[in-house]
Amino acid sequence: MQKRITILGSTGSIGTQALEVLENIENKEEFIIEALACNSNLDKFIPQIKKFRPKRVCISDFESYKKLKSEFKTLEILFGEEGLIEAATKDTDILLTATTGKVALKPTIEAIKNKIDIALANKETLVMAGDIVMNLAYENKVKIIPVDSEHSAILQSSNNDFKYVNYIIITASGGPFLNKTKEEINSASAIEALKHPNWNMGKKITIDSSTLMNKGLEVIEAHHLFNMPYEKIKVVIHPESIVHSAIECIDGSIIAQMGNPSMHIPIQYALTYPERKKGIKTNNFSFFDKTLTFKTPDYNKFPALNLAYNAGKKGGIYPCILNAANEVAVKRFLNGEINIEGIIKTVEYALDNAPDIKNPSLNDIFNVDIETRKMSEKLNP
Ligand code: MN
Repeated sequence: MQKRITILGSTGSIGTQALEVLENIENKEEFIIEALACNSNLDKFIPQIKKFRPKRVCISDFESYKKLKSEFKTLEILFGEEGLIEAATKDTDILLTATTGKVALKPTIEAIKNKIDIALANKETLVMAGDIVMNLAYENKVKIIPVDSEHSAILQSSNNDFKYVNYIIITASGGPFLNKTKEEINSASAIEALKHPNWNMGKKITIDSSTLMNKGLEVIEAHHLFNMPYEKIKVVIHPESIVHSAIECIDGSIIAQMGNPSMHIPIQYALTYPERKKGIKTNNFSFFDKTLTFKTPDYNKFPALNLAYNAGKKGGIYPCILNAANEVAVKRFLNGEINIEGIIKTVEYALDNAPDIKNPSLNDIFNVDIETRKMSEKLNP
């Protein structure tokens, strides 16, 4: 059976690797690349269009849109938010959301309403609007299949059956600051924070890995994806990043998914789920040259993790605020305006000054997101 795939964010890290997966998967003619969308990176986008020949493309930047129009005379080229929604909902079986930020949230929601399964690589979707998105998915019998390696590991370990699952165990590499002191962390530059030991990822997520905020966001995502209370989600530091996450069953049995760090496997699994296929060989794991170590996270050195747990437990608008304040603070850290402690203080301040909204609508979420960003820009943490 053929599967039509649309990729939002095709020029980013996950989008590029998804195309590598689709190029190397067995029976690749079963996968039709229906649409590709990106923000503005024409240097990467134009070769992708020529190589993968999507039926339509969408681009967010207007100047780039005009250039594409003159380069491809017959291709259907969409533009902006409306275009993104059209690309996400038209003739698609699986929507891979590989954009960063909130741009994919509305297109994802529209795709769910159109009964399109979601291969979810975008963190903000569930962190900002987890209740809304998961309820809609349930109503429309749509699968939300995680691409993130930890959540993919949990899906693979559990076979999506949580009847006997007592705990979800999310592993974290610990990032580049694992063995640094608090003082060293707070005096670290962006260049040091960007040196992730195991994963080669975008800048924002690499900084989030250095503070463990990334793990905190993943805890919130896991809560929504697997309908698990926060008390039953544990984080374990595992610097080698071989065990990608695990479940602990009620009888004490622990089931984990393992392999060398590679995003190709979770991306491909999301696209073939619940089946598996032969594909790109990027995981040459050997049991004989590895020592695996595990330890509990240092919540004092990495306060972002507790901030995320607490925001998640409070629910409602809190995770949206956590995410917005963090994103602005990370950008300011990358610009050299604030240090790592400044990121934490920005997020704390934003959460402490949260507006009183009980069951936020999508509009509430977008408004609070904007307000939190404005406030976080101006803060002197
Ligand atoms: Mn991850």
